[in-house]
Amino acid sequence: MEYPPFYNPEYETLERSELEALQLKRLKETVVHCMQSPFYKKRFAENKLTPDSIQSLDDLKRIPFTTKQDLRDTYPFGMASVPLEKCVRLHSSSGTTGNPTVILHTQRDLDQWANALARCMWMVGLRPYDVFQNSSGYGMFTGGLGFQYAAERLGMLTVPAAAGNTKRQLKFITDFGTTAVHAIPSYATRIFEVMQELGIDPRRDTRLHTLIIGAEPHSEEQRRRIEEMLGVKAYNSFGMSEMCGPGVAFECKEQNGLHIWEDYYIVEIVDPDTLEPVPDGEVGEMVLTTINREAMPLLRYRTRDLTRILPGPCPCGRQHKRLDRMKGRSDDMIILKGVNIFPIQIEQVLMQFKELGNNYLITLETSDSNDDMTIEVELNQLFTDDYSRLQILTKEITRQIKDEILVTPHVKLVPKGVLPQSEGKAVRVKDLRKKF
Ligand code: ADP
Ligand code: ZN
Repeated sequence: MEYPPFYNPEYETLERSELEALQLKRLKETVVHCMQSPFYKKRFAENKLTPDSIQSLDDLKRIPFTTKQDLRDTYPFGMASVPLEKCVRLHSSSGTTGNPTVILHTQRDLDQWANALARCMWMVGLRPYDVFQNSSGYGMFTGGLGFQYAAERLGMLTVPAAAGNTKRQLKFITDFGTTAVHAIPSYATRIFEVMQELGIDPRRDTRLHTLIIGAEPHSEEQRRRIEEMLGVKAYNSFGMSEMCGPGVAFECKEQNGLHIWEDYYIVEIVDPDTLEPVPDGEVGEMVLTTINREAMPLLRYRTRDLTRILPGPCPCGRQHKRLDRMKGRSDDMIILKGVNIFPIQIEQVLMQFKELGNNYLITLETSDSNDDMTIEVELNQLFTDDYSRLQILTKEITRQIKDEILVTPHVKLVPKGVLPQSEGKAVRVKDLRKKF
């Protein structure tokens, strides 16, 4: 059967002017609706704003930002814009950076969310004849239920394998003829390692052709590795609980930037210090406004994720803006010896060495009142234990990292399998520095 190229052609193929007209209409409706929320009602009154203050997309800037702290202050239900009896589910963010926050959903919200994510998966070529396996935890983490409902809506046979138990995961992949897997990138590499242990050749013994990787920062180099290892195309998926979960922004087949669905969100990129907008192409903090949410719309939510808008049109024909891959969160930034460093910069260098495995850990420590960085990285098991070769390699890695981050780290090459392997999002940085 021939399937059409777009999942939601009426929204995916809108011209910019039509898209912006739709955004303005939905923004105005959202702002009116937000007055049902005690939080926004007060916010608007304090700032002498009414829904009528918003007459253009530019007027959005008059609305103050919403922060994660606001969500914590109103925990659990103070942000709701509908009575609780209209809500059918809540999710809570995984709390990587502090207390959890609660996100409420009506049935309409869940339907719209499933639609957005089904649209993403269709965009990368998944069709009802595919077999989709989800290796995310099912529960509060939105990558579980989020992908489940979206894959069912698309019409695929779904395998809700959930997190962990990699051997069982592989049995499902081979027995059920799984063609597409959703996994966080660090787990995708784990899947391959276990395949090697079991003598499974992904190209020969499985039908895998697509991986959806997301939920944590990863470099282009890591993506290429995953593609090479598993013989698949791997697409970057971005989402966050506050914006429903996965399905916010997703790569198309061009693999050059993630389309953010502008019929659901208005995206702004601001300078995290001045909070002023930065021009397209410049990196800043992403600020999102939901314009298609019912239970708990968020206006100008500061995501703390750093990225930029890629200028210019995408050859795929969709005019929804493209985000560059995330650089990390502002809270992931390491400040060492006065220099700002993102873990992803280090990963980028490490992944270029074929002698290195996929797991690494950055430790920051104070010794003799100096702050130092140690990078432990696992060797590829096929690599040598010839001491002098290892020394030359260590030197070369150190030099290249210094070039990238301007600080000289201690690089330690360790055998495969000795660094901790997390089942959830990978922990890449351990900060043991004394705080003065
Ligand atoms: P928590 O905030 O507790 O980690 P979430 O599951 O909501 O809980 O995580 C959302 C965050 O995960 C995003 O704000 C972003 O920092 C990160 N993230 C999600 N997808 C990606 C991606 N594709 N690339 C980089 N980071 C991502
Ligand atoms: Zn595209």
